[in-house]
Amino acid sequence: MIHRLLLIGGLFLAQITAAFTQTLIPGQSYFGQNNYIEYIAGNMPLILSAPHGGYLEPADIPDRDCTGCAYVRDANTQELARETANAVYALTGCYPHVVINRLHRKKLDANRDLPEAADGNAIAGQAWSEFHSFMDSARTQVLGTRGRGLYIDLHGHGHDIQRMELGYLLSQSELQVTDNQINTAFYVAQSSIENLVGDNLGGVEHADLLRGENSMGQLLADRGYPAVPSQSDPFAETGEPYFNGGYNTNRYGSANGGTIDGIQIECNFDGVRNNLTNVNRFGDTLAVALVHFLQVHYFTDAPGQWCQTPSSVLVPAPEPGIRVYPNPFHSNLVIRVPNETQNEAFWQIFDMNGKLVSDGEIQTEEARVSLPHPLQSFYIVKIFNKEGVLFCQKVVHHTF
Ligand SMILES: [Zn+2]
Repeated sequence: MIHRLLLIGGLFLAQITAAFTQTLIPGQSYFGQNNYIEYIAGNMPLILSAPHGGYLEPADIPDRDCTGCAYVRDANTQELARETANAVYALTGCYPHVVINRLHRKKLDANRDLPEAADGNAIAGQAWSEFHSFMDSARTQVLGTRGRGLYIDLHGHGHDIQRMELGYLLSQSELQVTDNQINTAFYVAQSSIENLVGDNLGGVEHADLLRGENSMGQLLADRGYPAVPSQSDPFAETGEPYFNGGYNTNRYGSANGGTIDGIQIECNFDGVRNNLTNVNRFGDTLAVALVHFLQVHYFTDAPGQWCQTPSSVLVPAPEPGIRVYPNPFHSNLVIRVPNETQNEAFWQIFDMNGKLVSDGEIQTEEARVSLPHPLQSFYIVKIFNKEGVLFCQKVVHHTF
């Protein structure tokens, strides 16, 4: 009997440990709640995202309604992200990381800070958090393996001038200055490829990276996709439409430090996004340009060597000793937190729809939580303090 109990205890611990971290298989999709956010795990130093290419319009998330907000889907950019990733894999044998917001922009704008992104809705807010958790997971893997990398935020613009608009966080008028000026610290410090300016294989300057022969813009232009900035089209003229990069480019590029550079690519519609044949054709070209860009500026080893250990951490590593049990549970859940952590630690429990169903401060070492009936088949338990999330785990409700 004792042996049997020990065996059950051992299995139980193994099960809990397995839930803390997850070994991700490159090329495979992982989802947040309700499949609103999708992460295709990668194993190379390239991250792609499509924050405005979603279709889902669940009725329980009200349409966003905020002053000055945009609600239009960037047509076929989700498809473009997938095709680009497939084409990069075909070229290198390595998988880029891909983060996709599958919610329609009416419900969630995954290229804005939280208040505007979710417009106060908790379910959309949860999806927003997941989008950025997956981004963080991708970044952690890139930094932990190659120490540096490139992030591309994919969008679509509806402007009349049919060219790619590449955003580096430099405004239209800032891009109009001379190469000598744009190479100065004032402009470099604002650039989403700031780290690359200080550390690139050819030792070239900011202007070369933005609009030289091996700039991303020119690599696309050479292959039949006009782009600004590029060598052939160095800046958008005053009065012409131009997007210079948004929230994600700012958050995940290197303008604010770090060794992952960011470029926002706003794709025109005609011949690029207007049908899936053109999406696939452009995705293949973008993949060639990206691999070339990484080869020329970032890495000396062959592209086939860029893949690294196929593992990553999906959720934060737990503080030692934090436990939520039993799992599966029948009626009540126990949240156990060691003494040193319990100071100002809180719990939140979300149901399958991302709705917050229980929260509170962990006052003693152990909190006993009963959830509102009828119970659903699983929940997400999150434990956090003012420094961030300490623990996150799915718990399953068992009906006997
Ligand atoms: Zn967009």
